[in-house]
Amino acid sequence: MKKWLFSLLAVLLLSIAFLNMETKAAQNKTAVRTVVEETYLLSEDYVTPITALPPKAIVLLHNVKAGWAHIEYKGQQGYVPSTTLKSAQAKLMLVSSKNPPIVRESTVAQAKHLGNLYVNSIVHVYATNEENWYFVQYGNLTGYVIATALKTPTTKKMLVQRPDGLVVRDVASKSGENLSVIPANTKVDVYTDFQGWAYVVSAQQVEGYVLAHGLKEIPMPKLGKYSQGVATKTKRIALTFDDGPHPTVTKQILATLEKYDAKATFFVTGHRVNKSPKVLKEIYDAGHEIGNHTWNHPKLTQISLNQVNAQINETNTIVKSIIGEEPTLFRPPYGAYNKEILSSLSVPLVTWSVDTLDWQHHMPAKTLKAIQNGSYNGSIILMHDIHQTTADALDSVLSYLSKQGYEFVTVSEIITQ
Ligand code: ZN
Repeated sequence: MKKWLFSLLAVLLLSIAFLNMETKAAQNKTAVRTVVEETYLLSEDYVTPITALPPKAIVLLHNVKAGWAHIEYKGQQGYVPSTTLKSAQAKLMLVSSKNPPIVRESTVAQAKHLGNLYVNSIVHVYATNEENWYFVQYGNLTGYVIATALKTPTTKKMLVQRPDGLVVRDVASKSGENLSVIPANTKVDVYTDFQGWAYVVSAQQVEGYVLAHGLKEIPMPKLGKYSQGVATKTKRIALTFDDGPHPTVTKQILATLEKYDAKATFFVTGHRVNKSPKVLKEIYDAGHEIGNHTWNHPKLTQISLNQVNAQINETNTIVKSIIGEEPTLFRPPYGAYNKEILSSLSVPLVTWSVDTLDWQHHMPAKTLKAIQNGSYNGSIILMHDIHQTTADALDSVLSYLSKQGYEFVTVSEIITQ
């Protein structure tokens, strides 16, 4: 056979395989949609109304042909113009009822019983216009349950420890559909531990059930002071940003970090967190580490130990109220501390090994120069996310360091290895 013909055949075969995969995924995944504005469910003639669909009604989409969506609503099938539907947003909830909540086809008391939810499992919940009922999805099971059977879950962060990563499934079972793989050492939010399965969500929004024993606790850094970082074999660097969050500068820094897939540590002050709580949440949600940098930046060696503790505790409290956990590190303003302060801390004290002096010169080129001259494996770099010139320097800094082969990690990742 001629070579080109062989290649063509290979491409054709691959395309067919790929198409098959796509169809399979589409078949297994139940598509949930929400009704944008009031419309009628029509029969096959696209004219005769079967029932009215109120706004926010949740429907299951079978397929779309020539602008008509074939859907199912409370057990009734029919057609609506596809423009009257949009993707439905789900939130994750925990099944809490002691009696397995019954999933029904509709919201009348004796409606068809479609299945039961498992206590402690995590389900997707879609907002509806129904009082006291939620529309839920667990794998291929969809329907209505009584709202009191569900509650908001609490989460904790863990690490994927299996070297080859963890397979993510749509239900807590080895027979569940394989949705994706989360690589080793990825930090995930764990929503439940249910019969040996954990429901996890990664920063990349990959979510589903994984085997719980494939996860491990995130190692806690040892108490003590860290200034020179920790000499590492691999090329890793911890970028740190102090004195924020700032409503615009921090956001620009977050965008640049994301561009380079870089993680960093933000040492925040309580008074600025109080002004920009949403920015703190954005930092945290992007997977960066949060450190405590006091409430309003006093020189701690010039105030009483009681005042020091108040500065730290008030900042811990406001951070926890926004992200659900306290800062994992502490950095004293001006690097000023003494033995009493160090021994009263419950988290590691971290200063820095490379001082960019960005707050003093306000020159992106000088910030880059300081980092070019001072960086080494395991170093901790000091910058400030309240100066526009620092945000403007960051792209050149990350471009330079990534060309040098550095990986950008949080301070805790540097000091726990
Ligand atoms: Zn500072």
